[in-house]
Amino acid sequence: SENVDTQHYQKCAKILKDTFGYAEFRAGQMEVIDKILNGQDALILLPTGGGKSLCYQVPALALEGITIVVSPLISLMQDQVQQLTAQGVKAAYLNSSQDAEESQQITEQLFRGELDLLYVAPERLLKSYFLNSLQRVKVSLIAVDEAHCVSHWGHDFRQDYRQLGRLKSQFQNVPFIALTATADHATQVDIQHQLQLENPFVFKGGFDRPNIRYNLLAKYKGFDQVVAFVKQQDGAAGIVYCNSRAKVDDLTQRLQSAGIKCDAYHAGRDTATREFVQTQFLKDDLQVVIATVAFGMGINKSNVRFVVHHDVPRSVESYYQETGRAGRDGMPAEALLLFDERDAARIKQWISTGTAPDRYDIEMHKFEAMEAFAEAQTCRRQVLLNYFSDYREEQCGNCDICLDPPKLFEGTTQAQQALSCVYRLKQDTSVQYVIDVLRGKSIRRILDNKHNELSTYGIGKDQSDNYWHNIIQQLIHQGLLRIDMTLSGILRINESARAVLKAERIVHLAVPKLSVDTSKRNKAE
Ligand code: ADP
Ligand code: ZN
Repeated sequence: SENVDTQHYQKCAKILKDTFGYAEFRAGQMEVIDKILNGQDALILLPTGGGKSLCYQVPALALEGITIVVSPLISLMQDQVQQLTAQGVKAAYLNSSQDAEESQQITEQLFRGELDLLYVAPERLLKSYFLNSLQRVKVSLIAVDEAHCVSHWGHDFRQDYRQLGRLKSQFQNVPFIALTATADHATQVDIQHQLQLENPFVFKGGFDRPNIRYNLLAKYKGFDQVVAFVKQQDGAAGIVYCNSRAKVDDLTQRLQSAGIKCDAYHAGRDTATREFVQTQFLKDDLQVVIATVAFGMGINKSNVRFVVHHDVPRSVESYYQETGRAGRDGMPAEALLLFDERDAARIKQWISTGTAPDRYDIEMHKFEAMEAFAEAQTCRRQVLLNYFSDYREEQCGNCDICLDPPKLFEGTTQAQQALSCVYRLKQDTSVQYVIDVLRGKSIRRILDNKHNELSTYGIGKDQSDNYWHNIIQQLIHQGLLRIDMTLSGILRINESARAVLKAERIVHLAVPKLSVDTSKRNKAE
């Protein structure tokens, strides 16, 4: 790119070619690297496989001194270090899998300035003796991988990551780079805040996985549906996720009796068995693995053709990550979600009763976003990508909604009514309050606030609460509105809504399906 320093570019292109064997940078990589070489902090949001690692590995080699990489997963650390070493890079890791002698050796290498990259688990890095000893070496860059773990808004918050905020003050003149594959808007903001990144260069890559077809079926006899689906797959490899070990075991038996080569993977099986299942699957000796969420971290099998969710996941991040294990080779792949609102109600019940008070709002918000995805009547890919602030206006043509669309109507008027109501309420109220004003309810709070004097008061009284709830959800899905969870669920207007309010853009909405057709359901399940 023309904005990149020429000398930086030449130096880094040489490293890319000589060390990593690649001819060109992917979009964004060199821009990020350039900022780091200028000493600026960076925040990278790129999906798995997007090429995040080179964003700190190349600077690690270009800069004098050592790059510290914070990573939460021992297995990923080992993989990366093995790969780097094979490429001739001076890299090592320190984590709890090593004995004292090994870690002593690496510490000595560190002090002798023999390492370009050191991967460290957060709990080790933050030990005061270790931090103090780092003052004796030249640290040129600090990379925080899986940075969403630092945020309690993230879907995988880790206590030992939280403490990483202390680093910035210890390494004031060292650039920081934070990297993640999954972070909604609130998490992105919080990562910057927690790690105390200074005016970071933010790079967001495309989250789209165009070869994955997103599909949703109303769940009526889940196991039968999975068996039928797997039988249609002509032996192609796949993963089926369930939300309990018991279901995993049951479904495995069902699929085995149906003649499918498959096995179960969950934390209830011993390590050797789990490793065996994983290896068999990687070698294509098993067609299907039926698993809990314990399966998949760091799995690198490129020809997974389908991922089925027998049960709805707890967050969009999990769903995206789990479905993202399909189609790594770029060939067509399918993600099937079986959805039943009763499952959703049950999960909300669990969240209500089983969540620590400080986690309740977040878990509920995350799950409600997942539920909204399942209930969406607009392109699923749009909903998914909007969630990661990767806004796009085009429908994808490769999801169940695009392929079998619900009935659309020209809903510009309804959209304007809802949007202008949010606007007149100063983008400062909840969804339900907006609905109450639209429907002209004589509620104490509305009257106290004199919101009954707004021009939008009662303009939607001919429709039900349910109808407006659905319309507002659709406007969120289309990226015109968003829910700001950092302000406890306030409805806000996105920039793209301006054109709608000025009547410069037409909005198509789906005719809300206000009750679900349950006639095909088998009540016996
Ligand atoms: P992430 O950490 O984002 O999941 P990786 O850094 O592991 O992704 O990169 C995914 C794959 O893409 C790796 O095999 C990596 O070597 C490859 N890759 C990254 N950047 C480039 C590039 N500029 N040219 C070719 N391959 C690349
Ligand atoms: Zn679509």
